Amino acid sequence: MNTVYTFGGNAPHDDPRQKDKTVTGGKGANLADMASIGLPVPPGFTITTEECTRYLTHGESFSDELRAAVAQALGHVEQTVGKRFGDAADPLLVSVRSGARVSMPGMMDTVLNLGLNDETVQGLASASGDERFAWDSYRRFIQMYGDVVLGLDHGLFEEALEIAKEDRGYFADTELSAGDLKELVGEYKTIVAAERGEPFPQDVNEQLWGAIAAVFDSWDSERAKVYRRLNAISAEWGTAVNVQAMVFGNMGDSSATGVAFTRDPSTGERAYYGEWLINAQGEDVVAGIRTPQYLTKAARENAGAEKPSMEEAMPEAYAQLARVFDLLEDHYKDMQDIEFTVQQGTLWMLQTRSGKRTAKAALKMAVDMVGEGLINEQTAILRVDPMALDQLLHPTLNPDAPREELGTGLPASPGAASGKIVLDADTAELWSNREEDVILVRVETSPEDIHGMHAARGILTARGGMTSHAAVVARGMGRPCVSGASGVSIDLASRRLRIGARELKEGDVITLDGATGQIMAGRVPTIEPELAGDFGVLMEWADKHRRMGVRTNAETPADCKTARGFGAEGIGLCRTEHMFFDASRISAVRAMILAEDETARQSALDRLLPEQRSDFADIFRTMAGLPCTIRLLDPPLHEFLPTRDEEFAELSDSLGLGVDHLKRRANELHEFNPMLGHRGCRLGITFPEIYAMQARAIFEAACEVSTSDEPVVPEVMIPLVATQKELAILRALVDRVAEEVFADTGSRVDYLVGTMIELPRAALMAGEIAEEARFFSFGTNDLTQTALGVSRDDAARFLGAYVDKGIYARDPFVSLDVDGVGQLVELAAERGRATRGDIKLGICGEHGGDPESIAFCEKVGLDYVSASPYRVPIARLAAAQAALRSGG
Ligand code: PEP
Ligand code: MG
Repeated sequence: MNTVYTFGGNAPHDDPRQKDKTVTGGKGANLADMASIGLPVPPGFTITTEECTRYLTHGESFSDELRAAVAQALGHVEQTVGKRFGDAADPLLVSVRSGARVSMPGMMDTVLNLGLNDETVQGLASASGDERFAWDSYRRFIQMYGDVVLGLDHGLFEEALEIAKEDRGYFADTELSAGDLKELVGEYKTIVAAERGEPFPQDVNEQLWGAIAAVFDSWDSERAKVYRRLNAISAEWGTAVNVQAMVFGNMGDSSATGVAFTRDPSTGERAYYGEWLINAQGEDVVAGIRTPQYLTKAARENAGAEKPSMEEAMPEAYAQLARVFDLLEDHYKDMQDIEFTVQQGTLWMLQTRSGKRTAKAALKMAVDMVGEGLINEQTAILRVDPMALDQLLHPTLNPDAPREELGTGLPASPGAASGKIVLDADTAELWSNREEDVILVRVETSPEDIHGMHAARGILTARGGMTSHAAVVARGMGRPCVSGASGVSIDLASRRLRIGARELKEGDVITLDGATGQIMAGRVPTIEPELAGDFGVLMEWADKHRRMGVRTNAETPADCKTARGFGAEGIGLCRTEHMFFDASRISAVRAMILAEDETARQSALDRLLPEQRSDFADIFRTMAGLPCTIRLLDPPLHEFLPTRDEEFAELSDSLGLGVDHLKRRANELHEFNPMLGHRGCRLGITFPEIYAMQARAIFEAACEVSTSDEPVVPEVMIPLVATQKELAILRALVDRVAEEVFADTGSRVDYLVGTMIELPRAALMAGEIAEEARFFSFGTNDLTQTALGVSRDDAARFLGAYVDKGIYARDPFVSLDVDGVGQLVELAAERGRATRGDIKLGICGEHGGDPESIAFCEKVGLDYVSASPYRVPIARLAAAQAALRSGG
């Protein structure tokens, strides 16, 4: 198996491994792909991701085999270009770039112009006939290599560059002459030698291997690890390295470099979209040092910009680029994100990948592309990341609300957010951990800021374009972002800033509208999103292609309504205890818990009955005949006990019992481990009158609301069952109460009694338990807790470390531990079905709203998943994707 693959020139591109992203990474696979369909790709080679893993697990050393393969591949590049690497007369220069399976900020990105040294720079100057270009390339190389490979502070180089300009009274980098740049190179080399204790490496092979090592090492950098954790990327994937012959966008005014999308990544509009710079290299566009120009005439006119678009300034190269856009969309059947360079009028493609997009754009493109005949409905469904819908399901600014605009920037990532200004990523994280909404405001962001961007509600930068780090990362994360707001100036030392004419300080509240680029003072009210148009179309397709039902976890009529609006097909879990926290009821609940005998308890329950009945009636009405699973009381009772003195005093008044007495009683109820204590069906076993009251409320409400058109069929669910006997006793109780209510009211409804499977014993004994249960609902929150022996309430302290170390790929309370807990679910489903062929199976733990867990539920053949209201659309789409992926 190859460790290195060549591309471009006459390289063969026929080994399927070369186009497999898991082997050559996204960038490498697509470069080979583009070369093989005849697009202009500078020749190069890709070192496989497997070599990264090998390097990191073998004491960071390279094998002889790899060294030989790289030498051979370099030969291919030399031959294709007709120059030699390290040749003092006319040197081949290369770029070195990382490229994992999925694009991954946080890793070493790019070193350009590698292969320059004190000798080859002279060769480059004479061969190109452009001395300034040669020295500019060399100073860029030292700066980039110094920063990303040697780990030196890039600020030192920036400073030297600024001083060089200032001393000469220049404004732009382009004013520096060849002689100036030569001097600057000298200063850069002095900086390297002083900082590193060794001169800048002159041996081009040492440069190359240094860069390759830096790419591999960056896979394990802290920044990459944070990104991997946030995006569920396995540490084992590794990154590939791409080494490619340089083409130069900085060879004068017929040269340029740019980034482009085949459609608008913010809105999804079918219009070429991008930014470019004349006489520049790639990093100039992304770093936001110079303000990039628009790609198309229309976009430039729209923005009222002066500087010509590429369409106007380089019509031929632009026309060629537009042809490439169409070819690539047709080839990949998706919107592409492209990097290109024009070297003295000739277009070169440096990268293509499926472009990151906002949720809105993803939806629009998926639906449009079906209309254009580019993809089918199934592909459209698979195209949209279910979690990205989250962006669409949250509020946007109320257009009618008054707003005080402080300034504007670029609309870099849509959505609205308000919060307190924070000026660095650590503060963002700190304040957000204190449950405060924060807006991260920076001059520009870099991969070091990732954690702060994640913690922030929104991001505002003073510099950078629509493809700047801030913009790209924010879009990927679904954070609203306004970038390049030139009216923002920040004084970090005093923690103050100015936006337009306004002086502000860290902690002041602002609002961002990432869709318009507006920055506003204070908090501006928002409105709920409207889910029509493309969203509705895609959801309809999803519903057509999914097998599993989607219900919701809800216990208030308002939540039920939201969930129905999002397409919920019933309630999978109504946690009745949530109704007990209401201020008007808590004292009756406390009286019930603290009661010392049945009479006292019964009188408290009598007060609760009408309240519960009206709760259930409201819910049944809202759900209009859809199935409703109502769970009888589950939580540890201490959750309801008074803790504060005022609460005891109040209770003492209403019960006519002394405070000391009540405190003693509360103390008696103390449990060492309430999660495994007197909760769930254990309450029903020991205090049957509590469950009897709840059952009565359910059936009375059902009889009241049920009509022949919309019959109410309650599904009464018993929690935390471990044994068949528990369920048999409680089912008999529910049946008895049902008959009593039917006799009292003279009407009758159908109903089901079932149980949650949330203890390992219940999963193991599911065959027996199914004799008593018409349905199972997997309570995977408790099942995870009890199977892993990890307390739900205490897990946060250490699970992060577990995920960092790869012990669990993701937090098992968020995404089901398919290997372990999954086995319990699978086995219980099988055993339950063996006893009762038509047993209804669902899931109501948090995992019911997690796409990966939903895929597992599809595999096991569950009948439905139940998710919180805002997750219902996510679950609908994820269920459709799961069905399609499993060949449904
Ligand atoms: C569960 O345990 O998965 C469940 C849904 O119940 P709760 O979260 O209320 O314990
Ligand atoms: Mg539970």
